[in-house]
Amino acid sequence: MTDRPGHACPKHMTYGPCGGVGVDGSCEIGPEPCVFLHDPVVPWPGMPQADAEPGAAGRAFRDLMRRRPVVISGMPAAALDARSVADTAEVLGGSVDAVLTGDMPAARVQFPPAYHAMLVQERGIPVWAGLNCRDRNRVALEGEIAALAHAGVAGVHCVTGDHTFTGHRPDAAAVFDLESHELVPRARAAGLLVSVAESPAAPPVERRGGRLAQKVRAGARLCLLQFCGEAQDVAAFVRSARAAGADVPVLPAVPVIVDEYGARVMASFAAAVLPAGLADSVRRAGDPVAAGIEAAVCHARELLTVAGVAGVVLNGVATGGAETLLARSMAAVGRALGAGR
Ligand code: SF4
Repeated sequence: MTDRPGHACPKHMTYGPCGGVGVDGSCEIGPEPCVFLHDPVVPWPGMPQADAEPGAAGRAFRDLMRRRPVVISGMPAAALDARSVADTAEVLGGSVDAVLTGDMPAARVQFPPAYHAMLVQERGIPVWAGLNCRDRNRVALEGEIAALAHAGVAGVHCVTGDHTFTGHRPDAAAVFDLESHELVPRARAAGLLVSVAESPAAPPVERRGGRLAQKVRAGARLCLLQFCGEAQDVAAFVRSARAAGADVPVLPAVPVIVDEYGARVMASFAAAVLPAGLADSVRRAGDPVAAGIEAAVCHARELLTVAGVAGVVLNGVATGGAETLLARSMAAVGRALGAGR
């Protein structure tokens, strides 16, 4: 047992706080304050780090990122539906640079990450695979890392993950045998390009840059950001991360909102701050899909002017049955930003 506050954290974290801290400082699973709120960032111990050159897809993505801004999109497919995965991947292919096969609060039961990646890659599109510590212990995670490396994904997004109490399967036991800092070096040692998440708007805001710096010490090479407002808010985060020693490329999230359901769900994400007026402008529009695409392109272009921003991640939530419509909208945003070529 440790005297660090992490032992009281529902996710057993040592390197907290996670990105789920409410704006009032509350824990993501209840009204109690986050146990890390008033404590300094716990430094990654900087153990000797096994390293490996990324595989072909990782090297190609890294080289692309050196030439121009990259666009990663979410995967809006219906859960556990291989046909939907194939259809949406088909739509996104050639229009974005990679697809992030991540987590969904509304559908916690998903295809295993490596199998999901293979389904997407069969359509010829690079995969950035999401891997969380909620659903698997270290043995199962190490197996997934090996499978993802063998499958040849472009990269892996290592997150601690939301607690099971926040999703549609609160009956499931939450594992949290590891947390993101501990998952990162394992993935990097397997030759995977590793990204991590950060939520700049989640308290304690002034320590978020320092927390990213510890993840970089653990081996992260990219940072994907939760929605945190406007371009100047992203710029402030990048400055604080740089000052703390995190020099990795940053890819902020861009909301692609094409209907009321998507607007509502994305606004509900923990510590997510959508760009002012974006969701309302889509709601009021005669053609919400066109308005949502235009708003996303406009916001992405603003974000791409920020020093240290190397690309964007298109993020959306599809209404049941409208997965392909959202994929088409994301593809349109990607093409407008020059991605996929
Ligand atoms: S907000 Fe996150 S880090 Fe803080 S106590 Fe809750 S689960 Fe742990």
